[in-house]
Amino acid sequence: MLDIGKAIVAALCLLAAGLPARADQPIEIFDAHLHYNWEPAPLLPVQDVLALFRRHRVTGILATSRPNTGTRALVDAKPEGLWIVPFIRPYRVRADIGSWMGDPTIYDLVQEEFRRGGYRGVGEFHLSGRAATNPWVKRIVDFAVENDLFLHCHCDAEALEILYAHNAKARIIWAHTGFSLAPEQVAGLLERHAELWGELSYRGGITDGADKLTPAWRALFERFPDRFLIGSDTWVDERWTSYGAIIDGYRRWLAELPPALAARIAHGNAKSLFGRAGSGASRSSGAPSR
Ligand SMILES: [Zn+2]
Repeated sequence: MLDIGKAIVAALCLLAAGLPARADQPIEIFDAHLHYNWEPAPLLPVQDVLALFRRHRVTGILATSRPNTGTRALVDAKPEGLWIVPFIRPYRVRADIGSWMGDPTIYDLVQEEFRRGGYRGVGEFHLSGRAATNPWVKRIVDFAVENDLFLHCHCDAEALEILYAHNAKARIIWAHTGFSLAPEQVAGLLERHAELWGELSYRGGITDGADKLTPAWRALFERFPDRFLIGSDTWVDERWTSYGAIIDGYRRWLAELPPALAARIAHGNAKSLFGRAGSGASRSSGAPSR
């Protein structure tokens, strides 16, 4: 009896740790657009958020928050089985969304936060068209390039091109991938900019009315298998309460793709991107996976 009890406990421990991966488990997810906002107050305490990730087999997150307190709380929890890739959010309060690009104190905030260490990018930030020409935006883009940081930009195609004009070496994760921008235009941008990756939350047109992948998006995924990421975008409480449904929605259309391609979009591309060691050699020596 005792041995059976021990075996059950051991099995439960393995399950709790999320290991090992089994064939009947849902596909592992890296959530590449996660906000754990601390302002005005977090909807869920840290332990509940971590439990939510475990429940839905989310094993990695691109973590941001407004202000950065929420991201730090997640990192400080050192959760087992969850890989956290923290980004510096250039916002203190929601109103910063509309003014950060011309605000020198935001540049200071980014630098101050960077000095804490561990950050892999700056964002998500919002930009529309010519707002991206602001000199403070260029300074942040240059700062990111100098320090081997990604940018996570919620922006239209015009702003995106301006970011690359600021610094051609920018590496950009494009939040929402243009929302409703025509797939052929998305393809053109991915073609033109080798260091651009599309994150797919709120992206229209991926599935049709019957919840099936559309031919246009299947073709995009097949043509650019290494360039897409998925994310929840928990920007308001409602996104937390529907977190499971959001992740399930991704898994539904991922299941229509060949397994290797689905795995890249679900988690593999994020692992290749963020698994890269810091600056310098990693650029030319390829992308070690983790
Ligand atoms: Zn967002």
